[in-house]
Order: sequence, then C-alpha cells, then structure tokens
Amino acid sequence: MSDIVTLPHTGVIAVLEKIFETGGASAAEASAVANGLVMANLSGHDSHGVIRTPRYVEAGINGTYKYQQTISAVIDTDSFALVDGNAGLGHWVGGQAVDLGIRKAKANGVSVIGLRHAGHIGRIGGWAEQALEAGLVSIHFVNVSNASLVAPFGGKGRRMSTAPVAIGIPNENGEDFFLDFATSRIAEGKALVALKGQKKVAHGDVVDGDGKPSDDPSVLYGDTKDDIAPNPRIGDGALVAVGDHKGSGLALACELLAGAITGNGPTGIKSDPGVYNGMLSVYVDPAKMNDGHDGVSMVTEYIDWVRGCPPADPAAPVMVPGDPERKARADRMANGMPLSAETWDNILASGDLVGLSREELLKLV
Ligand code: NAD
Repeated sequence: MSDIVTLPHTGVIAVLEKIFETGGASAAEASAVANGLVMANLSGHDSHGVIRTPRYVEAGINGTYKYQQTISAVIDTDSFALVDGNAGLGHWVGGQAVDLGIRKAKANGVSVIGLRHAGHIGRIGGWAEQALEAGLVSIHFVNVSNASLVAPFGGKGRRMSTAPVAIGIPNENGEDFFLDFATSRIAEGKALVALKGQKKVAHGDVVDGDGKPSDDPSVLYGDTKDDIAPNPRIGDGALVAVGDHKGSGLALACELLAGAITGNGPTGIKSDPGVYNGMLSVYVDPAKMNDGHDGVSMVTEYIDWVRGCPPADPAAPVMVPGDPERKARADRMANGMPLSAETWDNILASGDLVGLSREELLKLV
C-alpha cells in the first residue's frame, strides 16, 4: 500500500484528539499531543508526526506512557531545575518543562532545565520555537533511554540513540533561526516513513547486521516490519551517525548531557525497560545580554546576508535553518497534509485499540 492520502490538518487534529482523549488523556493533553504531532507533519517532519500515533496509543495501553501527568521538581532553584516527566506524554510534560525554563530565563536572564523520564517529546525544534515565541535563545540536547539504534564512529553494533540537538535564535523580523536534527544521518522516524511508504532510504544511512551499508529500512525492524507499530529495537541493523567522527561525538555528548547528567539514563545501560526522552536545555534572554549592541538586529542582518549568497543552483535559493519548515507549513496548511495510505490506516486502527470505530473517526475529518 504506497498510495498517498491528502487530508486537512484540522481534521487530522480532531481525529487524534478523539483517540487520545478516549484513551485517557485530558482534553488539554490530547490537544497538545495532536497539535504537536500534526505540526511536525506541517513542518515537513513526517517522521515525528502523526505516524507516531499507534506507538503512543500502545504505550498508553501498556502503561509505558501515563496520561494526565505533571512534571515534578527534583531540584528547583532560581535559574536551574531538574524535573521528572513521570512517564507522561512527552508533548504534554515537555511543554511544561519548557514553560518552566522560559519563566526562569525571563526572570534571571538565563536558565538551565534538565528533564528526564518523559514520553516521546517529538520534534525538538518545536520546543525551541516555544522559547522563540517568548523571544529567547535556547539550546536543547536530547537522548532516548533504551533506544540504542546508532552505531558509533568505527563501530558495528548499536550504542547511541538518535539523540537530537536543537538551537533556536530569535530574528527580529519573525523568521527565526531554528536548527533541529537527529545526530543519526536519518531520524528513525524517517526510516519508519520509508518502510510504511515501501521506499528505500539513501544507501549508507543504515547498515545491516554485518555492518555493511544498506538502503533497506527493514534492517531496523526485523520481523515487526509489517506491524502497525514496527519496533526499531528488533532488527539487527543500525542507523549511521551524521558527519563521521564529529556527529558521532555530538551524539555521545547528547547521551552524556541528556542521559547521564539529567539521570534519564544513557541509552543501553539502564535497567528500566521504558523508552523515555531526557533533555538538557539552556535558555538565554538576549534582551538581558544587550549592552546596546542589539544582537537580535545583527542576527537579522547576518541571516539576510547568508540567505543572499548566490545559489550554486539558481533554482534552489540558499535557505537558513527554519526556512524549510516555514515553506512546508505554508504549502501543507493551504493544500492539505499528505500521508501514506498505510500511515492513515494505522492511525484509524489505533482508534480501534481504544474502542473507536473508523466510521466515527472519519466523520471528524
Ligand atoms: P533534517 O535532516 O530534516 O534536518 C532538519 C534541520 O535542517 C532543520 O533545522 C532544517 O531547518 C534544516 N534544513 C533542512 N534543509 C535545509 C536547507 N536546504 N538549508 C538550510 N537548512 C536546512 O532533520 P532530522 O535529522 O531528520 O530530524 C527530524 C526530526 O526528528 C527533528 O525534528 C528532530 O528533533 C526529531 N527527532 C526527535 C527525536 C526524539 O527522541 N524526540 C529523536 C531524533 C530526532
């Protein structure tokens, strides 16, 4: 099944809200998760969008994720906090942790927040954007416990998670810089999207069980590849780290900062079987770091200059991080959100898991 269905994003939000609320989420929580997932699709990151719905629903049913959780402070000072997500849905507890960081940075100029034990927090750039809305610079290092998927530089087996990094820097014209990527050449979700669309990944983005470069996403999923929620821990292949030794080093730094330092647990060495995100975030208020030099205007000037670089291909103007997401949003909000028919079918099937019929869900689109 490799057909594409194109749906209005508002209808998909309504379907997801219904599924999560019926599964046990509060209305506000269901809305946060549905909007977070759909925004990833609208931003062009299908890997971290609604394709995740069946996994989240299953995690809610088997108790790996817990509904209606609030972050709890383990350590809390004026400009620093370590908070536990209590296995809550990541789009919900992640938002609470980022809010806390924003409040502290607004009061003190800078803040550092460690988050541990959160359900999947999705597209990390979304958290940088939440801080950007408050006019803040932010830097986020993330790991995933119990999710060894990536081979370290020079290694053959899995040792690191896809450990993403995001950096947000405000631009006074509103076209903020946000850089947001997995430290693997492709996020696991991109392999999942390829698997569900019966496509290949670029050769060398994954290695098979013998460590040989491959283009087959199923090396990550083994015999769960046809399930509605394929398990990337089952296959004997691995993802490859971005940028050789440099990217592999950055992934390791994420495991150390977001895994070891927060207590989330670096991937692979924690006995808790749950798969949780840890995140170490730094927030800076540029208004409080301004002696009159007006850094944010300089950001605007510099970004315009970089974007104005003559393109190697005249048909492909130079972009800066954040531009592709803005472009995708403008297109998908106007023309609908494309999904593989299998992804849409799996979402409707996950409704079935909480007792909702397809007919009932389709009426919401
Ligand atoms: P990607 O390879 O698509 O890179 C995205 C980044 O590159 C963005 O900042 C984008 O603005 C920028 N970019 C893309 N094309 C560009 C161009 N031509 N010029 C300039 N900038 C450009 O991202 P990815 O590695 O596939 O990650 C996808 C998503 O997966 C991210 O949102 C990431 O946070 C998320 N993720 C989450 C987890 C988790 O555990 N929660 C784990 C891994 C990845």
